[in-house]
Amino acid sequence: MTTTLAVANQKGGVAKTTTVASLGAALAELGHRVLLVDLDPQACLTFSLGIDPEDLELSVHHVLTKGLDPTEVIIETEDGVDLLPATIELARAEAELLTRTGREHVVKSVLEGLEEDLADEFYDWVLLDCPPSLGVLTVAALTAADGVLVPLQCETLSHRGVGQLLDTVHDVRRFTNRRLEVWGVLPTLYDGRTNHARTVLETISDTYDLEVVEPPIPKTIKFAEAPAAGRSILATNRSNKGAQAYREVAANLVERSTRPRRAARKASTRR
Ligand code: ADP
Ligand code: MG
Repeated sequence: MTTTLAVANQKGGVAKTTTVASLGAALAELGHRVLLVDLDPQACLTFSLGIDPEDLELSVHHVLTKGLDPTEVIIETEDGVDLLPATIELARAEAELLTRTGREHVVKSVLEGLEEDLADEFYDWVLLDCPPSLGVLTVAALTAADGVLVPLQCETLSHRGVGQLLDTVHDVRRFTNRRLEVWGVLPTLYDGRTNHARTVLETISDTYDLEVVEPPIPKTIKFAEAPAAGRSILATNRSNKGAQAYREVAANLVERSTRPRRAARKASTRR
């Protein structure tokens, strides 16, 4: 069974892309087949996996807006995961999709088509790296997902956007994807030495009644260096405490993925 997880937060710089790359590598280490989808026109995920978006002629943009077969675009990376890469052209997709019927379903239908093609070879995990907005691409990712993971930097103002994101999740559940579940917030860039980070985290999980995915990802300078190496931190710094934290999160997500899914239950209207 495939688990599709959207990593979303409309705030930039909260480690969405780092989380997708690192969890992807960690899941691959555990022997899972993983597809990462870069849905951000900035193409940071693509770049951080060693691919220069400027060298690509075809990308997720052509798959979403021109109906190109994703197998023509998917790249195997050195991190042991497959990637559906993005280029800056994806910036046009928002506008192009805006007038299309069924635009919320584009990512979902691409993944369903791919699953039909690959059959038994289809992925165990599909991780969707969302752009820093609540626009068409994020809504399409949420529509395709079983769960959403919200990376959150534990600072005072970071929760201002969480309510808005949860409103979007609520709308997606009502209109396009009843099975979507919030898997929780993942504390990133975490400095556990400060009481402040812990207090902010507790406030956020209480205010919004959200699970906190463990363990928090510590702030470490090695993350800044990994993208330039074209590999995730799990490969460049195997025993780094941040890499280790992502491995533990991955193991917890694997455990989480075995829980009964929402589709089997009655859809609730609770936020
Ligand atoms: P987003 O995709 O949400 O915009 P990124 O994953 O691109 O965020 O991360 C933003 C910046 O923070 C990047 O420069 C990244 O290298 C850095 N970063 C991410 N996680 C950590 C961490 N745990 N410790 C230190 N720096 C980090
Ligand atoms: Mg990003």
